[in-house]
Amino acid sequence: MVSLTFFGGVGEVGGNKILIKDGDTSILLDFGRSFNLSRDYYSPPYLAPRNELELLELGILPRIRGVYRFDDSKESVDAVFLSHSHLDHSGHITFLKRSIPVYCGETTALILKAISRTSRTSLELNFNGLEFRTFRTGDKIQVGSIEVEPIHVDHSVPGAYGFIVHTSAGSLVYTGDFRVHGIKPEMSLEFLEKAGSEKPLAMICEGTNITKAEVSDEKELTEKLDSVVKSTPGVILADFSKSDIDRLRSFYNIAKQNDRKLVINIRQAYLLHMLREDKKLKIPSLKDDFIYIHRKAKKRAYRWENEIVSFVGEDKLLSGKEIEEDQASFIVVLSLYDLEELVRIKPRPGSCYILSSSEPVNEEMELDYNRLLNWLGHYGIPHYHIHVSGHIMPLQLRTAIEEVNPRFVFPVHCENPEAFGKFVSDLPCKTVLLDKGREYSL
Ligand SMILES: [Zn+2]
Ligand SMILES: [Zn+2]
Repeated sequence: MVSLTFFGGVGEVGGNKILIKDGDTSILLDFGRSFNLSRDYYSPPYLAPRNELELLELGILPRIRGVYRFDDSKESVDAVFLSHSHLDHSGHITFLKRSIPVYCGETTALILKAISRTSRTSLELNFNGLEFRTFRTGDKIQVGSIEVEPIHVDHSVPGAYGFIVHTSAGSLVYTGDFRVHGIKPEMSLEFLEKAGSEKPLAMICEGTNITKAEVSDEKELTEKLDSVVKSTPGVILADFSKSDIDRLRSFYNIAKQNDRKLVINIRQAYLLHMLREDKKLKIPSLKDDFIYIHRKAKKRAYRWENEIVSFVGEDKLLSGKEIEEDQASFIVVLSLYDLEELVRIKPRPGSCYILSSSEPVNEEMELDYNRLLNWLGHYGIPHYHIHVSGHIMPLQLRTAIEEVNPRFVFPVHCENPEAFGKFVSDLPCKTVLLDKGREYSL
C-alpha cells in the first residue's frame, strides 16, 4: 500500500513535511519549520522553546516516531529529500536522527552549511552531524521500493528542485516552491513536461500566490531598479533575501551600470564565498571592483567573519563613516538588523531605500516593517517596494496542472486551499483538501 501524510504545509505557507510510505519504505519530502506555528506560541529571546518536548506538546514538531534524535526508537524513515534550502522546507532537519540520510541538491547543501556556520547553534538550528547526500537533475535515487527523480525548478533561491516519485501505486509529483516568471523559467517548464509525461497519479502542488497575484518578472524589476538608482542623488539603501542570488545579480548589474558599488553585508559575503565553486551560478566575485563589504561598528568579529576578511583583504571593507563620505557611489544592503548603521551613514537629502522582499505578511513582520518606516522617517528617506515573488502565479499554476494532468492534486504551502480547489475545479483532476496528520492511501 502507498500512502501520503502531510505533517506540515497544510493551510499555511511553509513548514512542508510530507511522509510517503510504500510498503516497508518511508521517505519524507522536505522537513521544514513552520514559522507561523512557532510565532503562535513563542516570541524569542524571552519566550523561546527550551526543549524538544515543548515543541512536541504544542504540535510545532509533529509526533512521528522514529524520526527525531531525541527519540530512542528505531528509524522509521529511510531518507529525507529536501526540495531547496529555505528553512520553511529544511529547518527541522535540526531534530532528525543523524542516521537518516538527507538528500538535496549541491547548492542546497552549501547554503545550509553557510547558514549553519554563520548562525549560533540553537535548539532550533543545528545541522551538526547530518549526512547530506547530493543529487543533480537526471539522477534517480532508489530508496527501498521508492525511486526519486529530482528535476531543477526556478525559485527565489538557487538549487531548487521538484521531485517525481515513483511508487508501486504510480508516480507522484512534488513541485516544491517554483515559478515560471523568474530568470530561468525553462527549468520549471522542463520539470512540468517530464512530470506530465509520467501520467502521474497525484501532484503535490504549492499555491502560495493563489489569491494574490502580480504580473512582473526579474527583467522588469531590473528596469525599475535602474530608474530609481539612476535618479537618486544620495545613498541607496536596499534589502533583499540573502540567498536570492538572482536578486543579488540584478542589484549588482544595476550598481555597475550606474557606476555605484554594491556594499553587501558580511553574512551575504560568506554565503557568496561558499557558493563560489558553483560556476553555473555566475556569482560576482567578492574581489570584483563593484563589490564591497559593509563593516559594522562592533567590537568582536566571529571566526567566519575573519575568514572572509583575510580572503578579500581589509581594503574591501567599508565602515558606515566611509560610506557617509561618498554617498552617491554606493548601493548599501541594509537589513532590518543593520538599521542602527544609519546613525553612522547619515544619509544625505535625496537618499532612497529599496525594499526588495515580500510585504509584511504577519504581525511580527509588520512590527519590523513599522520600525523600518520609523528609521526611514527619521532621516526623511522614501522607500520603494520593488519585488517579484518566488512563487508561481495563479493562471500559470492552472496551466501547470493542466500540463501535468494528475488524477489528484494536493495543495500545500497555501493559505487558502479551498480557493485553490475552486480555481481549478473545472479541470479533470480532483483537488483534495488536506487534513494535517491524516494518512491518505493511494
Ligand atoms: Zn516555501
Ligand atoms: Zn522557498
